[in-house]
Amino acid sequence: SRKLMIAGNWKLHLTVEEAVALANAIASGLSRDDLDVLLIPGFLALEPVALSLSTSPVLVGGQNLFWEDQGAYTGEVSGPQLKAAGARYVLVGHSERRQYFGESERTCCLRLNAALKAGLRPILCVGETQAEREAGRTEGVLESQLAGGLAGLEAAQMASVTVAYEPVWAIGTGLTATEEQAAEAHAHIRAWIGSRFDKGVANSTRILYGGSVNPANAAGLLNQPEVDGALVGGASLKAESFLGIIQAA
Ligand code: 13P
Repeated sequence: SRKLMIAGNWKLHLTVEEAVALANAIASGLSRDDLDVLLIPGFLALEPVALSLSTSPVLVGGQNLFWEDQGAYTGEVSGPQLKAAGARYVLVGHSERRQYFGESERTCCLRLNAALKAGLRPILCVGETQAEREAGRTEGVLESQLAGGLAGLEAAQMASVTVAYEPVWAIGTGLTATEEQAAEAHAHIRAWIGSRFDKGVANSTRILYGGSVNPANAAGLLNQPEVDGALVGGASLKAESFLGIIQAA
């Protein structure tokens, strides 16, 4: 019942020209319309990529947004700007932003609400570090990141929210969560959503897995009933590997 999504987070990679070429290669190689495909380029490439995909079902999203719509905030990008540039989705609270850019639960919540207000669908990223997993704190970390990011949200608003489980230790490391670890974390996230909102909301919320997904491990992860898609970093930077993941889904 939940439609699968395969999303490619291009992070800080590619010039505008390279991004448009990759988007076109992915769009022309795509042979499935039973799942959502989302490309998440850097800000500069977002509008050119969206324009080049205007006749394609491939969707475009932003990697981050500021919570004010406009004003004296040098260097920031707002929800309405992303929406006007062609974005439909936006990442919120990616672990790299939490690690390197001081993202907190409070700022995640502000960004998530700004996304909803702009008519964008936020993808709230959560996940534990290696040390947190080893200390048995995985579930507690997921709960506090969910509670913080979704603070004050009403059940009806969850229809526009996607969650991404990205264990920090699996990002860019070649280490993937096992199918069991992913299934367990996703089930915990879904149960938390069920008790914070209700069963219906929990059953309809899409939960993506991210962390070293590649064409070889995608099928096993995506076969887990709790896993509703993938948020792909490194393997989304080549049309062949990203299309391979889509084929495996
Ligand atoms: P990798 O696929 O490179 O591990 O990155 C995952 C990620 O952070 C996607 O947002």
